[in-house]
Amino acid sequence: MSKAMTGRAGGRLAGKVALVTGAARGIGAAIAKAFLGEGAFVWVTDIDDDAGNRLATELGDAVRYRTLDVRQEDHWDAVVGEVVAGSGTLDVLVNNAGITGFEGALVAHDPENASLADWRAVHATNLDGTFLGCRAAIRAMRAAGVGSIINISSRSGLVGIPGAAAYASSKAAVRNHTKSVALYCAEQNLAIRCNSIHPAAILTPMWEPMLGNGPDRAERMEELVRDTPLRRFGTVEEVASVAVMLASDEAAYMTGTELTLDGGLLAGTAVQPHRDES
Ligand code: NDP
Repeated sequence: MSKAMTGRAGGRLAGKVALVTGAARGIGAAIAKAFLGEGAFVWVTDIDDDAGNRLATELGDAVRYRTLDVRQEDHWDAVVGEVVAGSGTLDVLVNNAGITGFEGALVAHDPENASLADWRAVHATNLDGTFLGCRAAIRAMRAAGVGSIINISSRSGLVGIPGAAAYASSKAAVRNHTKSVALYCAEQNLAIRCNSIHPAAILTPMWEPMLGNGPDRAERMEELVRDTPLRRFGTVEEVASVAVMLASDEAAYMTGTELTLDGGLLAGTAVQPHRDES
């Protein structure tokens, strides 16, 4: 085993080996950077090889990039196999890769008009990807009997979202599967913890199709956070700091839990669905 492929001494994640999916940009990239800063060796994975390789090169020796399409069983087998062979262990998995379904075009995603193909595509990445990731991680972590799995759900997994029904459904299922994984591992006498993070509006490229580059961009941004008590988008670093805590031994007694990161949105406001008056 190469010495260089394990974490360094010092930091809240000293010596740990982590794998982050969808980490070429956005929240995943911020988590990879934060983990690295806390002493972890980080396997950055994504389907965007150019951006993934660029990030790994930028971050240096304690980071490797590998292609991992979270929908593909054989990708999981190959990459996690390489992680365990190269780093000797897997301590932390972040199931971060996710799509809204609006990446290609702003197609209908409401319960009446969404197509079955679009519904399935969102679930394939967000839910199937998380299932496959949890399964691969449990198998890889079983030998040591300890680990942390962090599933990036969404505040949309806690409430209904009429215009993004597949996204909301997939994220609700991620929340629930997190609890099944947590209980299963505890039943198996494994200290493998599994928790979910539920961000609301975090400014990343995921929002671009919805914000556009038109003259009304600023207005759209303001509108999107009007109901948020803190009245702003969250930052990727704010999500990453919660992931660091869940990955670390500081959270050793936390499993099956969900942490919302939403500027206070779900604390008390009643957000009414938009009424179509036409
Ligand atoms: P981004 O769209 O900015 O980044 C997602 C990354 O995942 C991209 O690099 C993308 O690659 C990659 N990806 C897409 N499909 C796959 C796949 N099948 N396998 C592996 N990688 C894939 O998203 P965010 O950083 O904003 O979001 C990260 C996570 O956080 C998602 O799960 C999202 O649902 C969740 N989240 C985000 C919120 C936000 O406001 N941003 C709020 C709540 C939750 P490519 O660009 O090539 O498609």
